[in-house]
Amino acid sequence: MVAPLSTDGSRASDSHTPLGLSPLPAFSSLTDRPIRCHIPPLLGASVEELTQWVQAQQQPAYRGKQLHQWIYQQGVRSLSDISVFPKSWRESLAEVPVGRSNLHYRTQAPDGTVKYLLRLADGQIVETVGIPSFEANSKADWGAALPVARAATGQLAESDAPAVDIQRLTVCVSSQVGCPMACDFCATGKGGFQRNLQRHEIVDQVLTVQEDFGRRVSNIVFMGMGEPLLNIDNVLGSVRSLNQDIGIGQRGITISTVGIPGHIQRLAEHRLQVTLAVSLHASNQALRQQLIPSARQYPLSDLLQECRDYVQITGRRVTFEYILLSGLNDSPEQAEELANQLRGFQSHVNLIPYNPISEVDYQRPDPRRVQSFVKTLQKRKIAVSVRYSRGLEADAACGQLRASQISQNPVPLMRDC
Ligand code: SF4
Repeated sequence: MVAPLSTDGSRASDSHTPLGLSPLPAFSSLTDRPIRCHIPPLLGASVEELTQWVQAQQQPAYRGKQLHQWIYQQGVRSLSDISVFPKSWRESLAEVPVGRSNLHYRTQAPDGTVKYLLRLADGQIVETVGIPSFEANSKADWGAALPVARAATGQLAESDAPAVDIQRLTVCVSSQVGCPMACDFCATGKGGFQRNLQRHEIVDQVLTVQEDFGRRVSNIVFMGMGEPLLNIDNVLGSVRSLNQDIGIGQRGITISTVGIPGHIQRLAEHRLQVTLAVSLHASNQALRQQLIPSARQYPLSDLLQECRDYVQITGRRVTFEYILLSGLNDSPEQAEELANQLRGFQSHVNLIPYNPISEVDYQRPDPRRVQSFVKTLQKRKIAVSVRYSRGLEADAACGQLRASQISQNPVPLMRDC
C-alpha cells in the first residue's frame, strides 16, 4: 500500500537517515503502482541504495554501480536506454522513472548567466540559474561563456568559440515550488506556495545546468525559489547526493535561509561543511518584520543567538545576506546598527543592491550609497563584500522569470501526482 502524498509532497511512510535519505522501495512494490508518477524516482539515491535496489530484483551487485554511473555521469533519462543492462530487464524497467525534468524555457543574459524554467513530473515549474565566472585576467566579456559551453557540447564549432575559460560554474537551485515566507521585496514570495521539492528534483536542477554548459558544476547556492529549511529533509538528501554522487565539495555548497526557529540548530547538528547564509536585510527587529513577515515569530536577537550557536557547533562562520533597498535600510546609521548586532561574530556580510520588481516600488540604491555602507562596516572590522545579481536583463530577481512566463503560457498541472 503506498502512503498518500502529504501537502508538502512527502510520503507519510518516509523514514529518514540523518541525511534525509529514504530507503528505496523494493522492485515488487514499485510495479504495483499503476501511475507512473507515483513511482519514486531513482535520482538522488546513493550507490549503496542503488545496489540494494538492483539486488532486490535478482540482479548482481555490480549493476548498482553501473546504474549509478549511468544516472549521474551519463545523464540517462530512461532506464530502458542503459545499454549495458540485459535487454529483457531493461524493458521491465521502462516504468521506473529516473526523475529528470523537462526544459520549459531557457534564456541567456549577456553576462553569460542562463536562467531555466524546468517542468516537473506533475507539471509544476521551477526556476534554476547557471552562473559562470571567468578567469580574472580574461579579456573576454561575460557573454563569451555560452559559446564556450556550446562548443564543449558540440552545438557550436570549436573554432567559433572565443578563447575564454569558465573558472567556476555556480547553480542557484530552488528548494520549493513558490515560497510561503512572503517576503515583501520578493517576486517568488508574491506568487504563493505550491509544494516542497523532492530531493531528485533538486539534484536534477544541477545536472541540467551541468549538461547544458558541458562542464562540471563547482558551486551550489540554495537561493532560488523557496525557504530551504522548511524542506530540510529533501535539502539534506540532495546535499548528500550533490556531494557524494556528483562530486561537488560541501564547502562549495551554500544553504540560505531567512530563519525558521530551531531549524538552524537542526542543520548544525549534521555538522556539514556547507556555508550557512542567513538573510537579515535589516539592522533591527521592527524593519526586519516589515520586510519579512515571518520575522514577527522570530525576533532578531533569537535568530542571531541561534547563528552564534551554529558557529560554535560547526566551527564554520555564517554569511549574512543584506539586500540594500534605497532609502529604507541603506543609511550609515543602519550600517552602524548592523555592525553593533554582529560585534564579535565570526561572520561575513554580503551586501546585495536590490533588483527591482514590478510588484513593489523598492529601488536599488546608487553606488555611492552602497560604498558608504561598505566603508562603515569595514571601519567596524566587519568582513563585507558586495554582490550584484547576475543576469539583470533576464528577469533576474528570484521568481520573476517564472511569473512572467507562466502568465504568458499557463502550464496545466497533472491531477494524480
Ligand atoms: S526571499 Fe526567499 S524566503 Fe523570502 S519569499 Fe523570496 S524565496 Fe521565499
